[in-house]
Amino acid sequence: MSRILIVEDEIDIADLEKDYLELSGFDVEIENDGEKGLERALKEEFDLFILDLMLPGVDGFEICRQIREQKNTPILMVSAKKDDIDKIRGLGLGADDYVTKPFSPSELVARVKAHLARYERLISSNMPQNDMVEIRGIKIDKTARRVWVNGEEKQFTTKEFDLLTFLAEHPNHVFTKEELFREIWDMESIGDIATVTVHIKKIREKIEMNTNKPQYIETIWGVGYRFKL
Ligand code: CA
Repeated sequence: MSRILIVEDEIDIADLEKDYLELSGFDVEIENDGEKGLERALKEEFDLFILDLMLPGVDGFEICRQIREQKNTPILMVSAKKDDIDKIRGLGLGADDYVTKPFSPSELVARVKAHLARYERLISSNMPQNDMVEIRGIKIDKTARRVWVNGEEKQFTTKEFDLLTFLAEHPNHVFTKEELFREIWDMESIGDIATVTVHIKKIREKIEMNTNKPQYIETIWGVGYRFKL
């Protein structure tokens, strides 16, 4: 749930904003004093700030400036005067949006949603994406080496994981046991191709509903295995 801090000294306005935002599913905190608001904005984790301009203690301009020195969290400024908007822009404080009083609460909510969505896109595009393989109900996170079967996480040994991932990355391709052994176990390793059969059995126990009628890893008699697409 997104957490929003409202810094607003007019209690009625703050409450109105809070009510509307809470109805939209946001977690909302209010500070009526600029100094306290600034302190919380810097110390605590919020997903968005709504700052009034004229506040006792520290004003909205200063709060905005100080937040921007440390955080990229979206900031929506609220002011009583249209002229203030030009001032906010002119000062280049880094606010994301401006609303003048009186404003319609539903418009405020719409703007909040838009800024949160934009910010989330920005964050997720900067995050390294995990390398995922997804086939029907199976989801493999190659980076974290985790596997989910129909949403439920299953534990695999290193070789089971490697074998499952290799097959899933080459769907519909039939591999012989020899090929799989060479691919997953290095050439020097002690063992034989029966190891492959054992591992396939273990994997099936974790991913198949009915191991006698496998839906994912199919046995091609006399040849080997394939992962069905
Ligand atoms: Ca005020």
